[in-house]
Amino acid sequence: MAHDTAAMPGPINIVGAGIVGLSVAWALIRRGRPVRIFDAQAPGMGASFGNSGSLSSGSVVPLATPGAAMSGLKMLLDSDAPLVVRRRYLLRALPWLRQFVRVSDEASVRQVADSLLEILAPTLPSWQRVLEEIGATDLLHHTGQLHLYPSRLALAKDDFAWRLRDDYGVRSEHLDRDALLARQPGIGEAYPLGVFLPQAAAISDPHGLCVRLAQSLRAAGAEFVQAPVQALQPDGALQAQGRSWPAASCVLAAGAWSMRLLEPLGVRVPLETQRGYHVQRRSLEVAPGQVLRGPVVSADSKVFIVPMREGVRTGGTVEFAGLAAPEAPRRFALLRSNFARVFPQAPALPADDGESTWMGHRPCLPDTLPVLGPLPGYPNVWAAFGHGHLGLTMSAVTGEWLAQALCESAPPALARFRADRPTLGARLR
Ligand SMILES: Cc1cc2nc3c(=O)[nH]c(=O)nc-3n(C[C@H](O)[C@H](O)[C@H](O)COP(=O)(O)OP(=O)(O)OC[C@H]3O[C@@H](n4cnc5c(N)ncnc54)[C@H](O)[C@@H]3O)c2cc1C
Repeated sequence: MAHDTAAMPGPINIVGAGIVGLSVAWALIRRGRPVRIFDAQAPGMGASFGNSGSLSSGSVVPLATPGAAMSGLKMLLDSDAPLVVRRRYLLRALPWLRQFVRVSDEASVRQVADSLLEILAPTLPSWQRVLEEIGATDLLHHTGQLHLYPSRLALAKDDFAWRLRDDYGVRSEHLDRDALLARQPGIGEAYPLGVFLPQAAAISDPHGLCVRLAQSLRAAGAEFVQAPVQALQPDGALQAQGRSWPAASCVLAAGAWSMRLLEPLGVRVPLETQRGYHVQRRSLEVAPGQVLRGPVVSADSKVFIVPMREGVRTGGTVEFAGLAAPEAPRRFALLRSNFARVFPQAPALPADDGESTWMGHRPCLPDTLPVLGPLPGYPNVWAAFGHGHLGLTMSAVTGEWLAQALCESAPPALARFRADRPTLGARLR
């Protein structure tokens, strides 16, 4: 997979100025490779804008596990469930869902978990290094992550996932209600049990991180072109603003929109948007006199409640509805009621100015892993998309691996993330 770009003139074109595209650009420019970054929007306005900021280095459990895939499918048509498919979108989502169930057997899960471990293990040192280089270590917090359970039965349902984490060396501590409250005062009685992951960390302003990466890139000589890319060419050139932009290679990091540019090349990868929502309160107070100390996850609905620079963000839920459908107000209501269940004593905020809301597109592949590296049959077109629920966590390592492969030689782990890997069931050309 090594690629001899060093001899070729010209910059590397990058499509997408989300956290993935910016991280790849940073790792390249640090190696002295010129980069040109295309996006119709300002940096960090896609999924990277409003995520939950968690650096979940211990998330080695794929989304599809033996029990979870089937119970997830049962939820799909219940509009109040944390996982939902809009009826009109069901047929479109079916092939993706079928592949999702196919890779939920224990052998596939172990195979995917091995790959997740490869990309997640170096996460925190990679981010630490990037944040030091761009002078943004103030955004990194070693908070751990607190998962809440309403009952022993609910905890037992996640037993497979916790055992898998244990097998892969992810440390966790089981907490009773007193220990929970000592970690985070104000948690409601609905949650008597918890599990704490001490190794997880968090970014307190995911959009601010993108802005600061973009500033550092500009200062280092990166070129930003604020325009949508209309087409990719097999030689790495791009079409944008009605002209061709030649390059040694291009890296496609357009998140959930990546397939729009690949389909004309005849490449089919089962990429789907899992729409996620957030509601952000303009206060860090979660109970009288108590602020939120670190990320809290209500494990029954998989909702993250996290301290951000400007208040508490409640984010999550999964909705299959495609790239164009409008936001569903019901999803915001679900997040608000989840927050109220976890923190029932949180002070009321002004109705007109107490919160902001957001919806974004997680770029998801059925086996949880992103697609990374050159696309089969197109040695100058590189993929860096499909990071799903873990794009912030994985992007610093993604950048490092791709830059190494483009400038030096490919790290061996990159082969696990090929577009034609067996767990993807991808149909390529
Ligand atoms: C509610 C929610 C919570 C999340 N929480 C976490 C978390 O706690 N931790 C974590 O690790 N991950 C989290 N994620 C996932 C994470 O946000 C994503 O995986 C990540 O942001 C994906 O980054 P990206 O750069 O691939 O995509 P994006 O940020 O979406 O960027 C893609 C960019 O490509 C651009 N683009 C598209 N088409 C074109 C084109 N034709 N030409 C030019 N540009 C184009 C878009 O404008 C966009 O700016 C969460 C996601 C959601 C929705």
